[in-house]
Amino acid sequence: MKCIYCKNEIPTSSKFCMCCGKRVIVCPACQYGPLPMVAVYCPNCGKKPVEKPENENSNMTTQKTVR
Ligand SMILES: [Zn+2]
Ligand SMILES: [Zn+2]
Repeated sequence: MKCIYCKNEIPTSSKFCMCCGKRVIVCPACQYGPLPMVAVYCPNCGKKPVEKPENENSNMTTQKTVR
């Protein structure tokens, strides 16, 4: 499959691109991919390709922890 970032050919079901080092997502259900990190649902089967639950380690969201 081709990396969505650098368009280089990388091994199927790679979690990281070996050319540019960026994270790529492959749907665990149907092996469709690669998908961008922003993909919430697989466009092929409709399931969530992201492994991590959103409740855990939600550092990406802008949480205002004002103390
Ligand atoms: Zn790449
Ligand atoms: Zn899928």
